[in-house]
Amino acid sequence: MKPVAWTALLLGWLLAAGIASAQDNGIARIDALPAATAADVASLRAAPATPSTDSHRLPRADGWWRVQPAPGSGERLLLVYHPYSARVTVLAPPDYVPTVRSVFDRDLDRRFSRRALAFPLAAAPPAADAPVFVHVEGARYPLQVAVRDTAGHIAADLDHLRLISIVLGALGGISLVVLVFWLLLRERIYLLYSVTMALQMLYLLCAYGEAYALPGIRVLARFGVHGIWVIATLCTVAASFFLLHLAELRRNAPRLSKALVWTGGYASLALLVPLLLPWPADKDWFPAAGNLVLLAANVFALSALFVAWRGGERRAGYALLAWVPLVSLSTARVLQLGAGAPLTPWVEYGLPLVLAAASILLVLVLADRMLAVRRERDHAKRDADRDALTGIWNRQGIERRLSSLLGTAHGMPDGLAVLFIDLDHFKQINDGHGHAVGDACLRAFARAVNAALPYAAEPGRVGGEEFLLLLPGRGEADAGHAAELLRATIERDCAVVDGLPVGMTASIGVASFRPGDTVQALITRADTAMYAAKRAGRNRVVAAG
Ligand code: GH3
Ligand code: MG
Ligand code: MG
Repeated sequence: MKPVAWTALLLGWLLAAGIASAQDNGIARIDALPAATAADVASLRAAPATPSTDSHRLPRADGWWRVQPAPGSGERLLLVYHPYSARVTVLAPPDYVPTVRSVFDRDLDRRFSRRALAFPLAAAPPAADAPVFVHVEGARYPLQVAVRDTAGHIAADLDHLRLISIVLGALGGISLVVLVFWLLLRERIYLLYSVTMALQMLYLLCAYGEAYALPGIRVLARFGVHGIWVIATLCTVAASFFLLHLAELRRNAPRLSKALVWTGGYASLALLVPLLLPWPADKDWFPAAGNLVLLAANVFALSALFVAWRGGERRAGYALLAWVPLVSLSTARVLQLGAGAPLTPWVEYGLPLVLAAASILLVLVLADRMLAVRRERDHAKRDADRDALTGIWNRQGIERRLSSLLGTAHGMPDGLAVLFIDLDHFKQINDGHGHAVGDACLRAFARAVNAALPYAAEPGRVGGEEFLLLLPGRGEADAGHAAELLRATIERDCAVVDGLPVGMTASIGVASFRPGDTVQALITRADTAMYAAKRAGRNRVVAAG
């Protein structure tokens, strides 16, 4: 099945689950009332009522409502969940004095989280059975209401706080760690990621209302719902650029990433201008426009990631894994809230939990990026020490190896030996068969070393047709045997190269480690022995005196 179909199925299920899970909420009935004023309770009582279709929500956002709590006793609360931008006035028996609350208020009842606005109801009858009047203004979607006993609400509230504190902790922690990475490494991707996670954390804090109870950031309450909109928009901008960089979308999906920059970047920022300016005064157009731009940015981001992933970009695959559930759940949240269905735990907590999981998954992607960079560096380093023609060490590499072996040679009971190998009459091979055959002979030599001494021998090319071979842990006699074996192998295996009778042989000088030897001293002794072999007629082994 296509990912689109999966997503649609998930959304449908989440929505259905939300509608199906309407549970007993301690309210007998809710009636809509015509316009009235809070001062006139008598007129509210007498107002003609339109019964609501269900008793767990105030379906039209703004207006007056008569809420009839189900019979009950004990300390109870009228709860208005996810108030978001709404300002709620409650007139409760027995005295019907208006209490006005919004999530932006500084001094809400500190016994409760800000997931719901809580209005205490009188316990004593007959007040317990009397209707409660509720006025809502500034709501963006139907509000869920319930009447619950205080102890039960506190217990549910603690569960809520446990869950969101895990998520906020994960987001805040990751954001800080990645920020430190950026301070040290100065790679833009880390800054983008840190900012994205910090903004998501701030958004959650505001959406749940807890930001407005926290010293330091409760000044955000002054901006009311506009502050949340600004943060949400900046979230979109940061996330768009983070994804662009993370999966190198500009290279992997150029056209889609241009669309992502225009929607998630420019259009989002452009929306902020009229929002932040005093004119026009009415900002009610913003949520629709903001959601539209967010939707477009999400579509372009997911499509670009998909294209990049199909093109073989592994990081885009991981990013998709993180982003698809995030986008699905946030869309489900908007749909459920918009439909006035109570948020299912799946949607209410799925979103922040998926966000936390995504933040961790994306750290993995960053680690994968780091690994790739390190591999590249390792390859470059290895290539710097390798001979391109034969694949064995070059002069720098073999001298480095010899130097490190000399550091431990004192501890080797059998010492360390070095062979200096020069191919015989190589100029003649080049002249007779051509340079390409000469090159093939050099490669054939490397293979011969591998065939004769497959273990524990480290060959390096130190000149055109001159080689060093390190034999760690070999004494003088042992090294002599190894050299003889190598000489014979070259004579046998390199007699014919590329089907041509080149008859290649080598002269080998052997030098063994003596206490106090430097790299150069050891090589010079082996070199001198090799010249002795040349003078003695070539194709032979001579040990240094
Ligand atoms: P000797 O037995 O005295 O060592 O004679 P030689 O011909 O091997 O020695 P000489 O130093 O005169 O020549 C070395 C030749 O190696 C000269 C050069 O053309 C050849 N040579 C050096 N590097 C390469 C290479 O990378 N590829 C090939 N094909 N030939 C090379
Ligand atoms: Mg030579
Ligand atoms: Mg030579």
